[in-house]
Amino acid sequence: MARYRGSVCRLCRVEGEKLFLKGDRCYSPKCSIERREGAPGEHGKRRGKFSEYKIQLREKQKVKRMYGMLEKQFREYFKRAARSKGVTGTELLVNLERRLDNVVYRMGFGLSRRHARQIVRHGMILVNGRKVNIPSYQVSAGDVVEVRAKSKGNLAIKSAMELAQSRSIPEWVSLDREGVKGTVNALPAREQISYPVNEQLIVELYSK
Ligand code: SF4
Repeated sequence: MARYRGSVCRLCRVEGEKLFLKGDRCYSPKCSIERREGAPGEHGKRRGKFSEYKIQLREKQKVKRMYGMLEKQFREYFKRAARSKGVTGTELLVNLERRLDNVVYRMGFGLSRRHARQIVRHGMILVNGRKVNIPSYQVSAGDVVEVRAKSKGNLAIKSAMELAQSRSIPEWVSLDREGVKGTVNALPAREQISYPVNEQLIVELYSK
């Protein structure tokens, strides 16, 4: 599937906030959001007043970019959430969090979601003892997600785990650092998805 191949820092600057797309750099003073003001481009510093539509669009773009998705795929997540019995916005976020690449990142095995996706694609991850190389695989409560034995020494995974010690592991997963594995204790509740997002804006945008 086609992917965005440009500068990921540029995406943060477009959204005007950190999307944590680049691993350790995101937590350092080298982060472009820390160093530079405004959106990229000649008129970047002049952000006019946003229309209601633009506010909704920006919120959707922000979440889509955080999870490294393209529009079509993201819209499918929305459709699935809308068909479910729960609150659409909450279902959308929970299903995004349930992606295996996100869980691998949340457990600290990947430097970023992008890196976590590579790890999954390269067959380095087991779910309940079986290899799963599909980044969009949806984990369930009770699943054990583990780095495969022969990849446990992988330097990038080791450095991701060191870096992850400085950020908190969400309450809905638990981690066994020694075993390089984690357990999905439960699916996340809305209040356990802590990054700043107003999912209602996305629901409004797609419901037009
Ligand atoms: Fe975004 Fe990370 Fe780049 Fe900062 S370093 S702008 S958080 S991708």
